Amino acid sequence: MQRATPIRVFNTLTRRKEDFFPVAAGRVTIYTCGPTVYRYAHIGNLRSYLMADWLRRLLEARGYRVKHVKNITDVGHMRQDMVERGEDKVIAAALAEGKTPEQIAAHYTDAFMADEAKLNILPAHEFPHATTNVPEMVDLTKMLVDRGYGYVVDGNVYFEVARFSEYGKLSRQQSAGLEEGVRVEADPLKRDQRDFALWKAAEEGRVLKWPSPWGDGFPGWHIECSAMAAKYLGPEIDFHTGGVDNIFPHHEDEIAQSEAAFGRRHVRYWMHGQHLLVDGLKMAKSTGNTYEIRDLEKRGFEPLAFRYLCATASYHARLNFTVKSLRAAQKGLLRLREKLSTAGNETTKKGAKEGEKIRDEFWGALADDVGLPKALAVAWGVARSRVPGAVKRELLMDFDRVLGLDLVARSPSTSVPIDVEALSRERNELRRRKAYREADAIRERIRGMGYEVRDAKSGGAVLAIPEWARADAAISSSADVDSHLSERDSVDFTIGVVARRGCEELKRCLNSVRQCAARVSAEIIAVDNGFADNCGAWLDELAAKEEQVRVFHADHFLGSAAGLNVVLKQARGRYVVTLDTSVEVTGDIFSRLRELLEDQRVGIGGRWGVTSEDLRSFEEAEASGDVDAVEGYLMAFRRDLVNETGLLDEKYRFYRHLDLDFSLAARTAAFRLVIDTSLPVVRHEHLEWAATPEEERERLSKRNFYRFLRKWGERSDLLVAQTR
Ligand SMILES: [Zn+2]
Repeated sequence: MQRATPIRVFNTLTRRKEDFFPVAAGRVTIYTCGPTVYRYAHIGNLRSYLMADWLRRLLEARGYRVKHVKNITDVGHMRQDMVERGEDKVIAAALAEGKTPEQIAAHYTDAFMADEAKLNILPAHEFPHATTNVPEMVDLTKMLVDRGYGYVVDGNVYFEVARFSEYGKLSRQQSAGLEEGVRVEADPLKRDQRDFALWKAAEEGRVLKWPSPWGDGFPGWHIECSAMAAKYLGPEIDFHTGGVDNIFPHHEDEIAQSEAAFGRRHVRYWMHGQHLLVDGLKMAKSTGNTYEIRDLEKRGFEPLAFRYLCATASYHARLNFTVKSLRAAQKGLLRLREKLSTAGNETTKKGAKEGEKIRDEFWGALADDVGLPKALAVAWGVARSRVPGAVKRELLMDFDRVLGLDLVARSPSTSVPIDVEALSRERNELRRRKAYREADAIRERIRGMGYEVRDAKSGGAVLAIPEWARADAAISSSADVDSHLSERDSVDFTIGVVARRGCEELKRCLNSVRQCAARVSAEIIAVDNGFADNCGAWLDELAAKEEQVRVFHADHFLGSAAGLNVVLKQARGRYVVTLDTSVEVTGDIFSRLRELLEDQRVGIGGRWGVTSEDLRSFEEAEASGDVDAVEGYLMAFRRDLVNETGLLDEKYRFYRHLDLDFSLAARTAAFRLVIDTSLPVVRHEHLEWAATPEEERERLSKRNFYRFLRKWGERSDLLVAQTR
């Protein structure tokens, strides 16, 4: 659709929106920094590939001949400092999985292609692999050395930043910022610490290495993109896309290399996509909040629901991904398709004219810096409008060339895979024959495939709906539940148990505390914090038969603190007792806890606690009495304590140090923390700890420890030893 509106894009280089003019009339070249293939792409990576896809589809719809190149980084070096330490992630992953680097790279490359296809990202015209373009990188490095921009030290080649006067023009940055927790070790071989590696000498035993004039070695990450962009697209390209993370140093260094080597502008328009946050936090493996496409599919979502979600936000804006927002996107997508499928075939002259107006509006929105949110709103406007059916259909099909949401190809209603349908028919038959046990087993299998079976009242019909739709009643964050904190107590005790794994352990814990709770005025709140195994049904049954029990299902793991906050907000007891599922109650705990907490100076009571001299190391307290922190296995406090301490800090996704944080918050309000070792409880293996791989444990623990230290490290005045 050739429209008059010029395409305007925000150029990171100039910090302005500019009219687009291609280097060569009628043609456009796009280079996109592609994946490093040692693990699956996460949805944050994919968001920036979606941005590039929309740009490309817009340009193609406007009649340009586009050539799009996306490199495959199959020599690791995700981070330059890691290269410089000789670490290669592809190699490390290969060793860990007992495979060759080639096998690893091939596996993840295939997975990446499959993910892109599921998101309707048009395949790039070229996917050059770094490992098959090393001679070009060597040539470019040689050119830089010859032109006086590179220098050689012990088989390594560095780019001399001081020689390139425009260094920093893209990022307005000269060197890495002082990021939290990142220690940059000075490299003694560099003349200037800003210099970066073009080529690294291979260390002993390295598998992936190539010959070069400077000896065996491997290329730096940045040179890869300079060499391949020049080889496949020429020295000057129209668009270069990537995530904001790529701006420095990757793209800054790429400009320096390419412009120093070829003596001309490397890229006309730099486009960078903003971060995707998950539950409000930056997505990181160490935070445990990364999602891949298959994670969404496991919940029964269509990958295109994610594409739709991304279209609702400008690529300049941080997008906060939550399961709830994805559910809304999935619903929106299904409704849009339904609007199209139910549009009639009528047309009128007036309608056609109105249609042209809307078409201009749509393409105008896209031409304005690839404005997907506005374009999507226009599409919705059409769907809801009274323009004649045939016009509506034609417009939406036209728009879908860029939106890429399969508005036409898919069935308008929730489609259930054939095998799921077959299973549910089989189950129907079993139920008809009263073979309930077998029928239940099939229900489990269907659940395992991400679908839920609901029996119609009439008995015969079976309705299968995807998990994402079933999860409607589930909560996506602690903000989804009301707070009763300012309301009056309605029972004596609220017992809160939060779990994400270990159905047997949860049953043991809940059953043990129920026995004892039956003799007091109590309520039990169980939070299914994104249970992986199918414990949800057991909890629902329990809640159905026991009035005392309330259950909250989270549609994913909310984090340890957020899970407990659901309990705190919903509690209506005078006292709150939280239990870890590793704890089994063997007798009456309530009398003693009540006694402890009747003393208004006591903030938190429990069975296990720790003491410390310096807030850095903690010792398990052996005897009953005052402690510096009550351990999270069992914590009891008056509900109104929360009014003083505030809710738990939800940055503690992993449980460690969360109890210490809460304890110290109580200490700042001058409360005593007291344990009683005679409480009738026993502790079994701690599941969360046992189920976390050792390396992961260490990382998560460390992270929480530093979080704790930043907040409390200087407050040793709060320690019992200091106040005695
Ligand atoms: Zn790149």
